[in-house]
Amino acid sequence: MTADNATKHTSPFDEVNARIDSAAGLAGVPEEALPLLKTPYREIRVQIPLFSNGRLQQLTGYRIQHNAARGPYKGGIRYHPHVDLEEVRSLASLMTWKTALVNIPFGGAKGGVAVDPYKLSESELYDLTVTFFSRIAMILGPSRDIPAPDMGTNAKVMGWAMASYGRMNGHTPAVVTGKPLELGGSVGREDATGKGVVIVTEQWARHEGRDLKGAHVVIQGFGNVGSFAALHFEAKGAKVIAVNDIRGAIKNDRGLAIGSLMEHVKETGSVAGFKEADELDSAEILYQKCDYLVPAALGGVITGENAGRIQAAVVVEAANHPVTPEGEEGLHKAGIIMLPDLIANAGGVTVSYFEWVQNIQQFAWDAEKVAVELDRILGGAFTQVLEFSEKNGCTLRQACFALALKRVYEASRARGYIRI
Ligand code: GLU
Repeated sequence: MTADNATKHTSPFDEVNARIDSAAGLAGVPEEALPLLKTPYREIRVQIPLFSNGRLQQLTGYRIQHNAARGPYKGGIRYHPHVDLEEVRSLASLMTWKTALVNIPFGGAKGGVAVDPYKLSESELYDLTVTFFSRIAMILGPSRDIPAPDMGTNAKVMGWAMASYGRMNGHTPAVVTGKPLELGGSVGREDATGKGVVIVTEQWARHEGRDLKGAHVVIQGFGNVGSFAALHFEAKGAKVIAVNDIRGAIKNDRGLAIGSLMEHVKETGSVAGFKEADELDSAEILYQKCDYLVPAALGGVITGENAGRIQAAVVVEAANHPVTPEGEEGLHKAGIIMLPDLIANAGGVTVSYFEWVQNIQQFAWDAEKVAVELDRILGGAFTQVLEFSEKNGCTLRQACFALALKRVYEASRARGYIRI
């Protein structure tokens, strides 16, 4: 971060709060209520000792419960070396607005451990997960706080998390979502975030009188979100022309064959070296000419400094908070549309909601029911966003935040937390 934008916004949490400020008027939420709506309810930080090969490491874990006015806290657990309090706070806040926007009965939370999970053995990952969850278990529960996967975690980790909670509380599948199918996970959860990215993008294209056939797509990140988004874009007839991951980037203007690319990643651990593509400088991935640029990795990748180099018509925010407010200003000036994270990546938490419902009812849905309900909830929410933005002449992001803020404010008033 340069000194210049450091003076404007000091952290990702401040950046999310700036977005709340910019939508409060449109939401009809009084200024006096904003400090309460911005502030997390509870933040916990735990020590995680990890013993391996006779060595002792001291790791730090967080769980931040941002707001539960509309239902239990909900949000993922991230294992990544950059995890810190400010980042988790911003992500927890985003979950509050995301669940409110798609109108599922949850609040917002996020957690994480500052660690590089790819440097740990499976048994170290297991020990870390069991220790972390046993230390935050007292604030979790199916009607309190329900974690899920995020960057660096997956279904396997969620299975261990459920078992860790269950040791003290008895078998409780509804305490965690994104679990393996054998433990009460939902069909359609694994690819839900990537699928949702494509549902929202296709709806946007239709709204503009177009479709996705032949559209050129570039994806930054080929993890759970990026890879399944690529697969669903391809299924709609779009051409995914470039992707990257931490080890490299590849490009093929005729469109990458996503099924074989996923096989290649399974075998080698990276998109690098994929035969049916040319190598690309990974640092150039964001600057490729395309119709849809999909940042699907870390936050804060499009900033005031590099926004001018983006050559896409639309930026689809598959990652959480990939565009800083200065980046947004730059893209906006260049006439580049942003499909905001709050809606574009909400497919994951929406299917997490279905998983929770199935666990509570002890009844499993089939793939078709999950697909129909995902379309209905995500599509319905995005229709509201498009209508709100047209009616009020505001950006899609302001529409997302305004609709969400209004719902959380009204729930808080109905509870008597806010009496203004
Ligand atoms: N980590 C995902 C997100 O950022 C999913 C959260 C969930 O399913 O609770 O939306």
